Amino acid sequence: MAFAERVVIVGGGIGGLATALSLSRSGGAGHIQVLERAPRFAEIGAGLQLAPNALHALTQIGVPEEAIAACGFHPSRLALMDALTGQLITALDVGEPFLRRYGRRYTVMHRGDLLQLLLDEATSRSNIELCAATTVVGAAGNGRSATVDTADGASHHADLVVGADGLHSVLRDIIIGESELVLSGYVSYRGVLPFDRLADVAGGEDMLIWCGPGMHLVQYPIRRGELYNQVVCFRSDRYSPEHDNWGTAGEIDSHYENACPAVRAGVELIDRERNWKMADRAPVDSWISGRLVLLGDAAHPMLQYVAQGACQALEDAACLGQSLAQSATVDDALSTYVRIRAPRTARVQHSARMFGQFLHLDGMGATVRNFLLRRRATDDYSESEWLHGYR
Ligand SMILES: Cc1cc2nc3c(=O)[nH]c(=O)nc-3n(C[C@H](O)[C@H](O)[C@H](O)COP(=O)(O)OP(=O)(O)OC[C@H]3O[C@@H](n4cnc5c(N)ncnc54)[C@H](O)[C@@H]3O)c2cc1C
Repeated sequence: MAFAERVVIVGGGIGGLATALSLSRSGGAGHIQVLERAPRFAEIGAGLQLAPNALHALTQIGVPEEAIAACGFHPSRLALMDALTGQLITALDVGEPFLRRYGRRYTVMHRGDLLQLLLDEATSRSNIELCAATTVVGAAGNGRSATVDTADGASHHADLVVGADGLHSVLRDIIIGESELVLSGYVSYRGVLPFDRLADVAGGEDMLIWCGPGMHLVQYPIRRGELYNQVVCFRSDRYSPEHDNWGTAGEIDSHYENACPAVRAGVELIDRERNWKMADRAPVDSWISGRLVLLGDAAHPMLQYVAQGACQALEDAACLGQSLAQSATVDDALSTYVRIRAPRTARVQHSARMFGQFLHLDGMGATVRNFLLRRRATDDYSESEWLHGYR
C-alpha cells in the first residue's frame, strides 16, 4: 500500500470532503488537512441529482447508505417534457427496474444535506482536520513533496496535495497551466421552495426536465419531498465573451413567455438573486505535477446538463483512495488514478455538451428529437448504461 504521511486538500466542497473521507478510509494517508476559503463548510441552497455511480462511490468512501436514504428523495421517473406544449416526450423509469439493474435508486437531495453527511463523517475521523476561512494562494512541489501557501501568510507542507478547488481552481493553473474557460452563453438560476407552493403544477414523484428552444427547466422534490428544487436555464441573447452583463434576471421572463402554463408558473417563482454562467473546459490527459494532483471540477469542469459534475467528483475521490490502497508508491497511485479517471471524465464532459445541444433544439430538430424519443421504452437504459452503471 502507498502511504502519504501528510495530505493537504485544497477546497472543502463535495469533492474535497469526499476525498478526505476516501483517503482516511483507504489507510493511504496519515494526517489529512482540508483547507476551505469560505468562513464555514457549506453548500448553496439547491438540489443535486445523484445517480447510482455516485451512490456506489459514496458508500465506498464510508457514507452509510441509510444516512443517504434518510435525506434523499427517489423520483419514480425522469420525465422529458416539451416546455412549449406541456406534453410528455419520453420518460426513464427509475423505479423498481432501475433499482434491480443498478442496485441503487436514482436519488435527489439538498446539497446542504449531502455536505452535512460528508462533514459528519469527516469530523468522526481523527486524522481529518477541517480548516475553514483558509484561502490558498499558491503551491509548489519538488517531485517528492509539495507546499501550499495561504492568504494569511502560512505555508503547509505535504507529501500529497489535492486541488479540489472547483471551476476557477488556483491549483489547476499551477499544475496544468492556464486553460481556456469555455462559456456556453447559457445561464442558470436555481432555487428551493416549500413543496406546497408548487404542488398544483409539480410533477409529483417524477423529476421533470422541460426542454425548449434555447432553454430548459428542471424540477424535482428534495428532502423527503418537503421542498421543491428548480433550475431555470436559458441562452442569453446578450451573451458576449467581452463583458459580464448577460444572462441577467431581467431576461428570464421574455425567454419563457411562449412556454406552457406549468413552466411559466415554476419560472415565476425562481430565485433571481444569483446566477451561474454555464462554462466548462476542454478535457486534458493529465492532472498531475509531482505530488500535486487535481480532482472534481478543478480537473474536469463540465456543463451541468447530464447532472454529473458532483457524481464524477465522488467517483474521483473513491478512485484516488483505492489507488493509494492498491499501489506500491504514491507516484504509482497518482498515475493509476489519472489513467482511470481522465478518459471517463472526458467522455462525460463531451456528453454534457452534446446533451445540452439536444435539449435546446428548435424547429425541425426538436420535432425529430421528440418523434424519435416518443418511441423509446421507459426501461431502455442502453444510452445511460455506461454512465449510471459504472463502479
Ligand atoms: C446549475 C447547476 C446544477 C448542477 N446540478 C448537478 C447535479 O444535479 N448533479 C451533479 O452531480 N452535479 C451537478 N452540478 C455540478 C456540481 O455542482 C459540481 O460539479 C460540483 O459541485 C463540483 O464539486 P467540487 O468539489 O469539485 O467543486 P466545488 O463544489 O466548486 O467546490 C470547490 C470548493 O473549493 C473552495 N475553494 C475554491 N478556491 C479555493 C482556494 N483558493 N482556497 C481554498 N478553498 C477554495 C470553494 O469555496 C469550494 O468550497 C451542477 C452545477 C450547476 C452549476
